[in-house]
Amino acid sequence: MIFEDYVLVIDANFPSGASEIIPKIRALTDKPIRFAFDTHHHGDHAYGNQVWVDNGATPVAHTGVIEEMKRYETGYYGGKPGRWEDTAKTRPDVAASKLKPPSVLFPREMVFDDGKHRVELMHLGVAHTHGDAFAWLPNERILFTGDACVNGPYNFVGDGNVEKWVATLEAARKLGARIVCPGHGPRGVETVLADQQRFFKSLREQVGALVKAKKSAQEVRSSIEKINATLAADSQIARFVGKGNSFGSQVEKVYTEMTGQPLPAVNKVARAERNRHAISHGLDSLA
Ligand SMILES: [Zn+2]
Repeated sequence: MIFEDYVLVIDANFPSGASEIIPKIRALTDKPIRFAFDTHHHGDHAYGNQVWVDNGATPVAHTGVIEEMKRYETGYYGGKPGRWEDTAKTRPDVAASKLKPPSVLFPREMVFDDGKHRVELMHLGVAHTHGDAFAWLPNERILFTGDACVNGPYNFVGDGNVEKWVATLEAARKLGARIVCPGHGPRGVETVLADQQRFFKSLREQVGALVKAKKSAQEVRSSIEKINATLAADSQIARFVGKGNSFGSQVEKVYTEMTGQPLPAVNKVARAERNRHAISHGLDSLA
């Protein structure tokens, strides 16, 4: 977003992504890049912060991003190696940079408004993480969602809460966006939010029906393929339905939210999936 006196960047990206986008911004404007807004704490959205700082910008985020970083970036905060160090093992750009937590924080919302352009950064509740925030451009009715909304089989549920996610998407829908820029997948129109929400609602309905019928964890585990097929048969949400581990871990997450129990056989798979995501979240879709 190019304001009268400065540029606001939405999502810091990985360090390599930040380095890639800066010349593109420079081709558009010579105004200083003052702020980089992290929609949440994940590496593909926040690990480029240091690159932006090196270029004169200040990382901005919802206060929940710092809480999440304290939880997962234990290496930075003086504990054992955390996600940054894990990611650095496989990403030279991360290994060559360092974690820079956002230092301008807002508890609910923050507004940038120069009289011509307006961007409202807003936390609408727990979704993909506990620190998600959206960037809303009310004049243009454009909404940047971070990973609270994706457009394709990119949902990662390990750090969030699916039940609350549905409610947060409801709040986002009320904004009345005309254009939705998701965290992964192609830009879309307002229906993307509704589709993303329907995917989670359907997932919760399917798993909830098994829980209500008192099916065992093993039986729920055995139903993953069937749930996958049911959701994939709904043309409105089929594109959100992933295959294999990623879908299994989504079923397990919902089951665990409903019962407090893990799924026996998916357990390890989900943990591996969580690990994989922590290391290279978004890598497939960024390629
Ligand atoms: Zn993410």
